Amino acid sequence: MNKQDTPFQSLNTMKISIKKAVQSRISNLDFNNLDFGRIFSDHMFEMKYHDGKWQSAEILPYGPITFEPSMMALHYGQAVFEGMKAYYVDQNTINLFRPKDHHARFNNSAKRLCMPETDELLFIEALEELMKLDHEWVPKKKGQALYIRPVMIATEEYLAAKVSQEYRFFIITSPVGAYYSEGFNPVKLTTSDQYVRAVKGGTGEAKAAGNYGGSFLPALKAQQNGYTQVLWLDANEHKYIEEVGTMNIFFLIGDTLVTPELGGTVLPGITRRSVITLAKEWGINVEERRISIDELFETHHNGSLNEIFGAGTAAVIAPVGLIHHQGQNINLDMEKIGPFAKRMYDAITGIQYGKIEDTHGWTHPVNIKESVYY
Ligand SMILES: *Cc1c(COP(=O)(O)O)cnc(C)c1O
Repeated sequence: MNKQDTPFQSLNTMKISIKKAVQSRISNLDFNNLDFGRIFSDHMFEMKYHDGKWQSAEILPYGPITFEPSMMALHYGQAVFEGMKAYYVDQNTINLFRPKDHHARFNNSAKRLCMPETDELLFIEALEELMKLDHEWVPKKKGQALYIRPVMIATEEYLAAKVSQEYRFFIITSPVGAYYSEGFNPVKLTTSDQYVRAVKGGTGEAKAAGNYGGSFLPALKAQQNGYTQVLWLDANEHKYIEEVGTMNIFFLIGDTLVTPELGGTVLPGITRRSVITLAKEWGINVEERRISIDELFETHHNGSLNEIFGAGTAAVIAPVGLIHHQGQNINLDMEKIGPFAKRMYDAITGIQYGKIEDTHGWTHPVNIKESVYY
């Protein structure tokens, strides 16, 4: 899709106005007890789209906003988001991880939902200023990070199933704890005979809010049966593996790393892309291709399936211990993470926290002591 495909073309940069919180809420924060996504830092970024362009970019104290019940996002689901993280490096520096890639994906999601694009420079500047204002909210311990949630919603007040002419864009941030504070715990997955996540031509490759609402019922059923997540199969033949929950999936078969090809139904994960790049650099054969659940069982039976792991921003790497499919199990009998997944986890997090040299330009260091605004 190129720009002409959507009715919105105006990308303008503007000055961000800053309204600082009178009093920080940080003294209420217990850095040893960070629940994922429940606590929000002092400030948020907001801008509004109306009259054909983005306007009034501002950073303001995090807090409630008012909308009318006729707001279109609530009725027709024009809502897209991103999920990314910032990492504490040292007292002067916070690393954003691949923010331009997250921004590019955000624009792709917006285009798919017929929503306006946002400007890259403004997106990055908004993130940088938020980091500078709320740097104390970036937790410092190993495994901890500041989760960043950009989101765009349709705000026109109009009960008509058509493209909204008004939008709001926010960025909110949330300090999050170490995903693996109690050690790597391999997850159990199950396929679903009944449900699918995405179809070719649908919205599966966009980070569109509606994709997640539709996945909750199958996920709940999986959990009721003792599994952590659903391993999604393709919608047409119910045969080929796509991804897991909100992560991409990898299989180490012999010495080859296999991951499902993107193909329009799989979310193009940025962690996925990082894993592929590093594995290739390590001289590992990487195959992005269709892989069926039957082939996976075969590799397990012939002893060549060595490791399974998910990859996504939240956990970075999540080892998989068991896959259930139609009454049969692939049980890797693991207590902890496999050596390849561990190596990958250490390499990616090492780059994110600035402990390992970043030779790919993935990290975007923010000097928190420099601000043009105050
Ligand atoms: C966000 C997401 C991923 C992982 O993407 P990352 O960029 O690595 O965080 C994978 N699958 C789904 C469905 C997602 O929403």
